[in-house]
Amino acid sequence: MMLYRLHCARDHDFESWFRDSAAFDDQKARGLVTCPLCGSDEVDKAIMAPSLGRGTRKNETETTAEAPAVPAAPPTQPVALMAEKEQQLRAMLKAVREHVVANSDYVGDDFARLARRMHEGDEEQRAIHGEATSDEVRALIEDEIEVLPLPVLPDERN
Ligand SMILES: [Zn+2]
Repeated sequence: MMLYRLHCARDHDFESWFRDSAAFDDQKARGLVTCPLCGSDEVDKAIMAPSLGRGTRKNETETTAEAPAVPAAPPTQPVALMAEKEQQLRAMLKAVREHVVANSDYVGDDFARLARRMHEGDEEQRAIHGEATSDEVRALIEDEIEVLPLPVLPDERN
């Protein structure tokens, strides 16, 4: 089925469905295509829109208009799914972060020094969290001292 936008001799615009362009030509030749407003059978096609997807202005000739239209790109659903996944991920990161923060002592920028002391047995082992520079973290990891970066949520970076 094809939707034709039609235009009558008296400047009325209307739309009508036809099986194909041949059906339109046949019905028009027999005077069966008439304007619903004035009854005129002097009707011409304005713009053709295939019933599938959106026609492009390039495909206005009858032959290409009869070809199946390429389905339009999917609407916004994939974006919505991404957003949902991202929300789940954020919620997970937040939970990890809150768990670590709730179950360890905050030691601020003394973190690297304390972590090293614990590793070397100079300090009692306990869970701590705090700030460390990337150089400090690299040094700790090189010495096989286990540290984990706390997930930072994008909206907490300010
Ligand atoms: Zn009319």
